[in-house]
Amino acid sequence: MNAILQALLNMHKFKIKLHDPKLLQSVTEPKSLYRALVGVFNERENWEMVSPTLLKECVAATSQKFRGNEQQVQFASPSCSSPTLQQDAHEFLIELLDTLQAEIDAAIKDQSIIPGLFGYEVLHTIRCNACDEESTNKECSIGMSLDIQDR
Ligand SMILES: [Zn+2]
Repeated sequence: MNAILQALLNMHKFKIKLHDPKLLQSVTEPKSLYRALVGVFNERENWEMVSPTLLKECVAATSQKFRGNEQQVQFASPSCSSPTLQQDAHEFLIELLDTLQAEIDAAIKDQSIIPGLFGYEVLHTIRCNACDEESTNKECSIGMSLDIQDR
């Protein structure tokens, strides 16, 4: 969980997008994940101690799951590549991004920030063995999961 937050907080483009004046004006709910993230970014800017308490609260509120195993994720050693932890981290990221986009959607129209930053498209092509006819369909999603093998 910390690794995911660290990665997001070091993403320059993510920071820029969150600080869009339109968003800052529109998403005003103080207990929102959006505000929590903006708060953490601002604290960092001013070299203050970063305490993602509100951030963790926001995430925990939307994802009951992470209340229970937060500890476990947090204290896993960086070299630990247990599949369950990787899965947890991925689910956590998706949950976080979904929540954020939902908050943005609720406050302002046409601000697809998350798909713009993290989205990908998969093109499926199915070819009939008998007549060679092909059909394709596009699938859009966020947060592609990749297996990283141990060296
Ligand atoms: Zn056919």
